Amino acid sequence: MKPPAFAYFRPASLEEALALLAEHPDAKPLAGGQSLVPTMNFRLAQPAVLVDLNRLSDLAYIKPSADGGVEIGAMARQRAVERSAVIAARAPLLAETMPFVAHPQIRNRGTVGGSLAHADPAAELPAVAVALEARLVLRSTTGARTLDAERFFTGLFATALEPGELVAAMELPAPAPRSACAFEEVARRHGDYALVGVACAVRLDDAGHCASARVVLLSVGEGPVLSASAAAALQGRAPGEAAIRAAAEAVNRDLDPPSDIHASAAYRRQLARVLTRRALQRAFERVRGPGPGVRKRRPPDPGPLTPDP
Ligand SMILES: Cc1cc2nc3c(=O)[nH]c(=O)nc-3n(C[C@H](O)[C@H](O)[C@H](O)COP(=O)(O)OP(=O)(O)OC[C@H]3O[C@@H](n4cnc5c(N)ncnc54)[C@H](O)[C@@H]3O)c2cc1C
Repeated sequence: MKPPAFAYFRPASLEEALALLAEHPDAKPLAGGQSLVPTMNFRLAQPAVLVDLNRLSDLAYIKPSADGGVEIGAMARQRAVERSAVIAARAPLLAETMPFVAHPQIRNRGTVGGSLAHADPAAELPAVAVALEARLVLRSTTGARTLDAERFFTGLFATALEPGELVAAMELPAPAPRSACAFEEVARRHGDYALVGVACAVRLDDAGHCASARVVLLSVGEGPVLSASAAAALQGRAPGEAAIRAAAEAVNRDLDPPSDIHASAAYRRQLARVLTRRALQRAFERVRGPGPGVRKRRPPDPGPLTPDP
């Protein structure tokens, strides 16, 4: 199928893009086009105006921030994030997760801003953004504001973006001392959307107990689900097998997974339990070394690292 007719603008600067979005309330930004174009071809979206962001090279950056974190421009391609040495060093959860997003050809075009703004409940990037306590920089002609990722995702394919507003960047804080992360997902084939996925970030205190845990699930609700029950089950406890199992059981209290042609709700609940346990085991292993009874597993290879531009 072909999309209905639309007007097309290709601004050369962020200011020009924001002015066009302000001028055309029914406009949609076009980033990698990997979600928007198929949606238009199926006529699920029929924007009258497209504002193409692909000339905005000043939004296509990955740079270390002064506090030890990293800033990623909205037009950074997913493949560039996957291969970035800065991301590998400062946001290893993101580096570990990127190979699970679709296929290399799609990641070559797909952008960080596009994935966040699209807010697909089965997408990996939103869950990672919430797990890492990312802050999103949103721009419009009236200025800029910064929002926690947790507050950005408001529902099924819905975000806190106001009309005329763009995601301009994602800021990730420096990894805390004695912290580690892990990602797990199950999809029918590699590159398919996940049936369930889990991103987790854990931190130990000086006594080796769990000081904080962020367990975020995808494909189990209307958006990324941060499990308060899993965090409570781990808080202050030695992160052994018993605490991890308790957290993995607790996670389902926070979920209301859908049943669809891909998987039943019961199967998704079972996956949530198993994947949470695996992800937490691996994260705790990474932060304090393997303990008795903890299974070892090699993390997926994120592929060759190339220097950032
Ligand atoms: C076959 C296939 C498999 C896929 N599998 C996965 C998968 O497993 N996991 C996954 O996460 N994704 C998957 N995707 C989606 C892919 O990752 C997309 O790249 C991503 O969802 C959207 O990024 P994009 O840059 O292509 O955005 P676009 O398609 O250009 O835009 C998506 C939406 O975001 C809006 N938008 C884009 N940029 C901005 C911005 N800066 N500010 C505000 N709004 C903006 C657009 O107006 C549009 O509404 C898959 C896609 C395909 C085609």
